[in-house]
Amino acid sequence: MSSFLQIVIASGLRQVFTYLAADNTPLPAIGCRVLVPFGRSQRVGLIVGHADTCDVDESKLKPIAEVLDEAPLLPDYLWHLGNWACDYYQHPKGDALLHLFPVRLRQGHNNQLISRFWRKQSTDVDLSRAPKQALIWQQLSQLPAGFGEGQLNHIGLAYKDIRPLLDKGILAPATPHEQSVNPQINQAPLSLNQEQEQVFTAINSADDFACHLLHGITGSGKTEVYLQLIQRCLSKGQRALILVPEIGLTHQLLERLQQRFHNRILALHSGLTEQQRLDAWQQASLGQADLILGTRSAVFTPIPKLGLIIIDEEHDQAFKQQEGFRYHGRDVAIKRAHTSNIPVLLGSATPSLESLANAQRGRYQHHHLRQRAGVANQERYEVIDLRQQPVQAGISARLHDIMQTQLGAGHQVLLMLNRRGFAPSLQCQSCGQTVACPACDASMTLHKHPTRLHCHHCDHRQPVAIHCPSCSAQQMRPLGSGTERIEEQLHIDFPDYPVYRIDRDSTRNKGSLEGLLEKVHQGQPGILIGTQMLAKGHHFPHVTASVIVDADSGLFCNDFRGPERLAQLIIQTAGRAGRTSLPGTAYIQTYQSEHPVITTLTQAGYRAFAEQELSYRQQAMLPPFGHLALFLVQARHEQQAYQLLGWLQHQLRSSAFGKLTQQLQHFGPMPAPMARRANQYRVQLQLQHASRQHLQTLCRHLCLLLEQHPDSKKLRWSLDIDPQDMG
Ligand code: ADP
Ligand code: ZN
Repeated sequence: MSSFLQIVIASGLRQVFTYLAADNTPLPAIGCRVLVPFGRSQRVGLIVGHADTCDVDESKLKPIAEVLDEAPLLPDYLWHLGNWACDYYQHPKGDALLHLFPVRLRQGHNNQLISRFWRKQSTDVDLSRAPKQALIWQQLSQLPAGFGEGQLNHIGLAYKDIRPLLDKGILAPATPHEQSVNPQINQAPLSLNQEQEQVFTAINSADDFACHLLHGITGSGKTEVYLQLIQRCLSKGQRALILVPEIGLTHQLLERLQQRFHNRILALHSGLTEQQRLDAWQQASLGQADLILGTRSAVFTPIPKLGLIIIDEEHDQAFKQQEGFRYHGRDVAIKRAHTSNIPVLLGSATPSLESLANAQRGRYQHHHLRQRAGVANQERYEVIDLRQQPVQAGISARLHDIMQTQLGAGHQVLLMLNRRGFAPSLQCQSCGQTVACPACDASMTLHKHPTRLHCHHCDHRQPVAIHCPSCSAQQMRPLGSGTERIEEQLHIDFPDYPVYRIDRDSTRNKGSLEGLLEKVHQGQPGILIGTQMLAKGHHFPHVTASVIVDADSGLFCNDFRGPERLAQLIIQTAGRAGRTSLPGTAYIQTYQSEHPVITTLTQAGYRAFAEQELSYRQQAMLPPFGHLALFLVQARHEQQAYQLLGWLQHQLRSSAFGKLTQQLQHFGPMPAPMARRANQYRVQLQLQHASRQHLQTLCRHLCLLLEQHPDSKKLRWSLDIDPQDMG
């Protein structure tokens, strides 16, 4: 009988630890959580294997302290998905697998149901003498006979409201069980136009795995197609998972889902408390919700009878986790659909070059929506050449005129600038120095409300310097413009119109974004200025002009994905304008009006841009043609990081790897684009390979080597497979 347990712990280590099973108790199953002694404390571990023998001295092994679960909490398909993901992304298993659980469970809380469930006992009740209770009973008619606390809260009621009904025995406590799924329609679906109908039929034609890429311009009715596919999925008795890149978009899509369906919808995002997350996770795993809508990590939600996965705005880099377990939510979702043998749909107006290439290679089915649905007009572009006119705080004379005209005609104007704060730096007019963050290789951003210098990389704050830290001259001036500065200028230039600034600073307080959006939606002429928050998914029916204030920052970025991101931002921003019968124009301010990214995009569109960019990528063997992996070492002393990565590179050059290194290129060790952050030097080694498999194997060897190197225990190192952000 096996009596050794192989256990992983969230410790940052790749090692699997061996513990002794407790005597006289049944052996806990693989996948169960346990508490184990670890160093001087106890930690939560996961059982990943059983063994009869063990190659260390048995007397040195410790028994586990406690078995936390009677049976594994993750269903098989998630256990496999989690194992696949930590294998593919080469993340330490304990950290990766425990990442699949809500934080409360990671911490060792028990999984007893915390949410309460009730059942209606009678349909024939006389509450004529208790009008308040009668009202509540009537509200409950919206819910099925058995319902949970989440559903109760969803219709605006709380436990205290139903207490009297429980006391009367009209309601009784119940245990939840999986309920059958059926579409419950609130609002009739729109009748699809011809393009939508074709896409819908094609996607709907099979229930097996297929990856569909839906490339539809903004406003072309992608969401309507999603809703109708979801309805089909529900009518087959199956559930749907919908992923969006960020919390702001969950609210919008949730509204559309609720308008259409009366079904139980769970929204999972970072705005929930840990307890709410646990509740939601439990409800989902019990089949208490039919539709699950969430951000990246929702891809790991247990959902019985899952029939469809939709990934909206699939190009968005927020799907990639940038710290710790660096998985790509879209790619994991595709893997999930594949193993569950169900269709997955990626939607975007600006698909990622990776997805477009997969469609071209026939791996994904490619669908198009080329026309705007309903009455909306197609957007037009105008490039504003900044070399030919005066510019005041980021606003050119031409733009000023355009705004005057549009506002005068009663419309709204939207300005997009991806830099919050007043100015990206504060510069000395005498010696030219800018104020740098003491802990990072970056300049401090000047903020005016409240007035201070702020490092956006490490959060360091300091008072605004009056004297230059270098030459002591008293001539400090803001350099460049952020959203606050443009806002200030707009108040001066257009005193008769309201200006709404929408960025992380102005929307920090709960409800403030909703408040601002509500004012915008009233439709009075006015100006919106904001960061990319504004470019994502929002619907601004009164905007007739959308403006990219500074396209050049995207053109001259040292990440090879810079042009792709800029193109996506331009198209997405343009998509905010002209969403109704009013024609919309997108304006692009640049000093580089002849740049091929700008000209191709505005004259020939996103597809043409993508073709052009893909051919550059192919020449350079960059993704999606070659594959990347990035080793990053962070250290207090730069030299240590260089030494470790230099040693790693030396291993690569040795002949030990044979054929694996034949098509490998490696760059570095070199400073990461942000060479020092929060007092840590950041050095990287980039690997680029024509074969994904060979790169995987190489990285696996390198991780093992690194783990054995004595310095790797003193320094922080990480590996990013398919990096989205080059450091
Ligand atoms: P997308 O998700 O591609 O941006 P939406 O699904 O939000 O597009 O549709 C844009 C607008 O067009 C919405 O107001 C929507 O109600 C409307 N719409 C979509 N499909 C149709 C249709 N078949 N008939 C009429 N209006 C439609
Ligand atoms: Zn800093």
